Amino acid sequence: MLQELTAEELWTNIKGECEGRLNKQTIATWLSPSRAVSVSGDDLTVELKNKFTVYYVEQNYQEILNQVAGQVLNQPFRIEFVFAENDGEQEQMDLWQCSGAFSSVSGDGGKPEATATTRAVSSRSRRPGSGTLNPRYSFEHFVVGRNNQFAHAAALSVAEAPANRYNPLFIHGGVGLGKTHLMQAIGHSLIESSRIDPGKVCYISAEEFLNELVGAIAGGSTMAFRNRYRQMDILLIDDVEFLSRKEGTQEEFFHTFNSLYESQKQIVLTSDRPPREIQHLEERLRSRFQWGLVTDIQAPEYETRVAILKRKSALENLLIPEDVLDYIAESITGNVRLLECSLNSLKHYSATQRTKIDLELARMALENIFESGRNHLGADDVITLVAGDYGLSTTDILSAKRKKSFVEPRQIAMYICNKLTKLSLPEIAESFRRKDHTTVLHAVRKIERCCGEDNELKERVHGLMDKLRNSNISLEN
Ligand code: ADP
Ligand code: MG
Repeated sequence: MLQELTAEELWTNIKGECEGRLNKQTIATWLSPSRAVSVSGDDLTVELKNKFTVYYVEQNYQEILNQVAGQVLNQPFRIEFVFAENDGEQEQMDLWQCSGAFSSVSGDGGKPEATATTRAVSSRSRRPGSGTLNPRYSFEHFVVGRNNQFAHAAALSVAEAPANRYNPLFIHGGVGLGKTHLMQAIGHSLIESSRIDPGKVCYISAEEFLNELVGAIAGGSTMAFRNRYRQMDILLIDDVEFLSRKEGTQEEFFHTFNSLYESQKQIVLTSDRPPREIQHLEERLRSRFQWGLVTDIQAPEYETRVAILKRKSALENLLIPEDVLDYIAESITGNVRLLECSLNSLKHYSATQRTKIDLELARMALENIFESGRNHLGADDVITLVAGDYGLSTTDILSAKRKKSFVEPRQIAMYICNKLTKLSLPEIAESFRRKDHTTVLHAVRKIERCCGEDNELKERVHGLMDKLRNSNISLEN
């Protein structure tokens, strides 16, 4: 059957089959503006309108589409999505850099899987040097919060006096928390202040470094490779955890490091973990990574998340009501890139549906993103945490006592159950041994209102919610 169908016919068939499995709106929004490019062996290449669409479809519908394709063809089959190279939104999407955003939400704490299929039909090659600095990754666009203030201060200090106090500067932290942004901000700042010639700033990921090295060895141009790096005034090497187990690259990197360090050039490194936790890294390299300053970036707190959302939406000229900002900041906790993806998704939805951005649209547009980040929290987890925070026992929370010191935490616990768990109002009522779910509804409204009036309470409630999200509780309920 495969041989008889053209790529376009096959894609039309697959989309047709999807009609029973995906809703019409989804197909119209994400899959209709598309073009089947080619079919070969057991895969079909489909071009979607931009990188964001590819990203979104891969994250949300890839599995189901592969299944449907498998059914249509009666054999395991895969659809590969690509985007048109010169689409206007392309550059913007490069800046939003959504790919990988979901990984840390799933709580695995690991490195994002590169979305191998997300690539332009004809990809551009990247060269090391200032040309690859993302213009948005400047200090000006970086929101400082308690989670990143030390790393930020260290980065500023390096930008003011390179190769002086902190050399190397080693920044570590989870995925999507701003390591690359901060590292590149140093490069921008040095270029802007004319302290360093743009051609002497090199930003490269450890992975690209390895690829170039392999290419240089194969092409017999190792000396040129060495010289190029050793001429730099500042070397920004991203994601050095990649060097783990790559003995050959570690050796070359070691010499590059020494050569730059000895000529008093600045080196900045990032990694998803501190040097001591990078496995299979030569001891001499590990110790060099710790010569200067090792600092980390944590997940942003609620206030910082709101501030980031405000900054990003202002940059995009997006008018987003406070309650929507609140909704996003409450739902996404551990990953700044995912905050950006939410804004982007909202923008896309409001443009395709020609409606203004409000809470209803946000709920619809962001459901999938949030779903993947939601913990399987139970009411028990919430009750235990809130009781502990108020110095009460869980029995006090569950009791019928009407003392104010019991009522407030009880209502907060109900409110948090409503916000963070998948439990319905009657289920929450049952967990609190109440007969009537209107008690829960009353609590939710009351806490919502009080948080609006009382900042201290709001902070306390958000602090509790952050703790629950960040705890690794993942109880199946
Ligand atoms: P990492 O390198 O830690 O995985 P990135 O530096 O790529 O993370 O950041 C992911 C996205 O989040 C980027 O688009 C970046 O601009 C944005 N971002 C992260 N932290 C901040 C912050 N504090 N202020 C503004 N934007 C941020
Ligand atoms: Mg990074």
